[in-house]
Amino acid sequence: MNEIILKPGRDHSVTRRHPWIFSGAIAQVEGAPAPGDTVRVRSSDGAELGWGAWSPESQMRVRMWSFDPAESVDASFIERRLAHAIAGRATLLAADVTNACRLVNAESDGLPGLVVDRYDNHLVCQITTAGMERWKSDVVAALTRLWPCAGIYERSDAEARAHEGLAPAVGALAGAEPPERIEIQERGCRYLVDVRAGHKTGFYLDQRDNRALVAACATGGDMLNVFAYTGGFGIAAMMAGAASVTHVELSADALALARENSRLNVCDGGNAEYIEGNAFEVLRTFRDARREFDLIVLDPPKFADAKKHLMAACRGYKDINLLAFKLLRPGGVLATFSCSGLVSPEIFHKVVSDAAVDARRDVQVLQRLQQAGDHPEGLFFPEGLYLKGLLCRVW
Ligand code: SAH
Repeated sequence: MNEIILKPGRDHSVTRRHPWIFSGAIAQVEGAPAPGDTVRVRSSDGAELGWGAWSPESQMRVRMWSFDPAESVDASFIERRLAHAIAGRATLLAADVTNACRLVNAESDGLPGLVVDRYDNHLVCQITTAGMERWKSDVVAALTRLWPCAGIYERSDAEARAHEGLAPAVGALAGAEPPERIEIQERGCRYLVDVRAGHKTGFYLDQRDNRALVAACATGGDMLNVFAYTGGFGIAAMMAGAASVTHVELSADALALARENSRLNVCDGGNAEYIEGNAFEVLRTFRDARREFDLIVLDPPKFADAKKHLMAACRGYKDINLLAFKLLRPGGVLATFSCSGLVSPEIFHKVVSDAAVDARRDVQVLQRLQQAGDHPEGLFFPEGLYLKGLLCRVW
């Protein structure tokens, strides 16, 4: 029997149902577990706390599968968890809001290391842990039964795999290869998604509800869509009646797709501008040229992926928010985000208010924002809340 025994006093997070056990919490390893093997987890006094996946290459040495010592971790366990995850999206799947959503959100769905996104009738999987890698074929078989679709594609090329000793893996897992571009719709907007080369699994599904909120603020105004990717927020705003939109994006490929997406929605009648460049520089140029906007979205990539980068990340957030505050007409709206898990909502709030103080703008928070509900946050897993934002009115 492979099992791990925790150090005295280190069982608290497991009894609080947190799924991660770091190497420093482990006193002893019994047996000879191979990467991805299921291990029994015991407290220092011998109490059985449940089962987890062994990941010897990672500092996150065990990820809990189950907190029930009597539960077996097998293919039917994986299928039950997948069925729960999909059932949790039933309302969204049945609604005509969209044909793209996240079906499985890793730890927050009790399936550490697995993301499954639906794009029309294709599924895209991303596996990031040794534990989940072990169950890959069972995941594919179960998904085929639970959500029959044209094809299941793997995008396991996230950097996180390197920490687990896993090589990247991409390609078809079942059924047909996805087309080069999958067309999805979201609240009447159409978007082309490149699931092979796009960011994450191809599209920022987590911003769905925030795109709708931003669109509702767009009527008649000039919009600046910073960190535009394939156009998401800007196209939603144009479709909702924005007078103009300016997309700013570093990646030429993403910006090219933003143009295509605009054409697809017939909202590119000369009042859309596409600027390929570094947002930090472009916003400075706009400030110097005294350009003004009624609505600005700041949706930057993750600035901090380790604690040592937190201060630099905060300086980056402050910098772009300060510039955005300067570019807004009085009464304008700023939707500003951070997807760095290490930046808490409190820290983010502080950074944005510091920026507003320096910009000498009076600001009201209309709404605190987070990721859409198909990207749930496990109640015992605060790390599951990674996307936070503020919808602000700026005077
Ligand atoms: N708002 C988008 C998602 C943005 S993701 C949506 O809803 O779909 C962040 C984007 O910022 C990525 O497309 C990335 O290419 C881009 N990016 C990263 N660094 C940048 C920089 N310095 N300047 C401009 N864009 C940048």
